[in-house]
Amino acid sequence: MAGLYIHIPFCRTRCIYCDFCSSTLGDDAQARYADALCNEMDARRDYCHTRRMETLYIGGGTPSLLNDTLLERILCHARRVFDFPVDAEVTVEANPDDINPARMRRWKEVLGINRLSMGVQSFQEAELRWMNRRHTGRQAREAVRSAYEAGLENISIDLIYGLPGSDIHSWSDTLRQALALPVCHLSAYCLSVEPRTPLGKMCATKKTVLPDEEVSEAQYRLLVEATSKAGFVHYEISNFARPTYHARHNAAYWDGTPYLGLGAGAHSFDGHTRRANTDNVQTYINADGHPPFTTETLSDSERANETVFTALRTAKGLDLRRFRKQFGDDALRYILQQAARHLATHRLVREGDTLRLSKEGVFVSDSIVADLMDVD
Ligand code: SF4
Repeated sequence: MAGLYIHIPFCRTRCIYCDFCSSTLGDDAQARYADALCNEMDARRDYCHTRRMETLYIGGGTPSLLNDTLLERILCHARRVFDFPVDAEVTVEANPDDINPARMRRWKEVLGINRLSMGVQSFQEAELRWMNRRHTGRQAREAVRSAYEAGLENISIDLIYGLPGSDIHSWSDTLRQALALPVCHLSAYCLSVEPRTPLGKMCATKKTVLPDEEVSEAQYRLLVEATSKAGFVHYEISNFARPTYHARHNAAYWDGTPYLGLGAGAHSFDGHTRRANTDNVQTYINADGHPPFTTETLSDSERANETVFTALRTAKGLDLRRFRKQFGDDALRYILQQAARHLATHRLVREGDTLRLSKEGVFVSDSIVADLMDVD
C-alpha cells in the first residue's frame, strides 16, 4: 500500500498565520509548474517500489486556484503513471470562493474527484478578515452546499481555534454552523504561531496577543463534545469523522505507510528514509521534474519515538506487539514503564496489546506523549 501526495504551491493571497510552501505566482508559472509535476511523476514513478496507489491527495497552497484544464492534466497524468484502484480516495483541497455548482459537477463526473477538503477556518466574519482569508462565512456555507448538491458528499472542512479575540461563544457558534452543514469530516487545529509569518511578527511585537491557554483548552473540550453529540468519531487528536468517513490518505501517514510526495516542498517516505523537495517554487519549476531535495534517514530510536507520537494521537492507539517486533524488548519495557503512572491515573488505557489515550487523556495528550517518547 502507498499513497500519492501532490503539492500545489499557489494562493491568491496569503493568510497571516501561514508558513506552508506557497506563492502568489500567476498563470504562466502555474502552467510551467504543472509540466514540472508531470515530469517528476515520470522520474519518480518507482519511488515506493510499487505503482499501486491507494489514495491521491492534492493539497497546497490552494489547488482550487488552478484552472480545470491544468487540474485535469495533472490528474490524468497521475492516472497514466500510477495504478489506482476503482475505489481510490481522491481528495482535492479547495477554498470556498473557488467553488460553484457547475465546477463541482465537473470535478466529480469528469475529473473523478471524490473527496473535498475545504479550508473554512471560521464562520466569524471578523476572524476571517483578521486571518486575511478570501472568503466570508456565507460563501463557505454556500460552497459546502453546492459541492454536496453536485454529488460530492465526502466533504471535510478545516477549522482553527485559539484565535485572538475568540472565546467560547464565538467558537461555539462556529461549531454550530459547521455541524449544521452536510460535512462528514472535520479537522480542527489550535492556531500555531510560526516566527517567519506576519502573525509571528505581530506576536513578537505584542501587536497581537493570543488567548490564554484555558480558553483554547475549553474550545478544544467543546469541539470534542459537540462533534461527539453530532455523531462524529474522534479518531485522531485533531480529526473527527462520521462513521466510515475517516481520511484514508492521512491514516496512512500515521501508520508509517510509504508515500510519494510530488511538487515544491513535498515530503516522501519510502519506509526508511524521508525526502523533502526544495520549497522554492521557482527552483522547482526550473528543475523540470528533477528538483533538488534533502533526505533524512531516521535512527531506530527516532522511528520508535515517531511511532509512539503518531500512534498515540489516534483512537486505534499503539500496537504493543508490533512495536516490540520493530524496536525490541528494551524499547517496549521503557514505554510500559513510562506509561505506568498514566495508566494508574486512567489517562492511558491498556487493552490487550493496545495502548491508547483515555477520553480524559486526550486533553493532556502532549505531556503523555512527551513522557513516552524518550526511547533511545
Ligand atoms: S490559503 Fe492555505 S496555503 Fe494559502 S496562504 Fe492561506 S493557509 Fe496558506
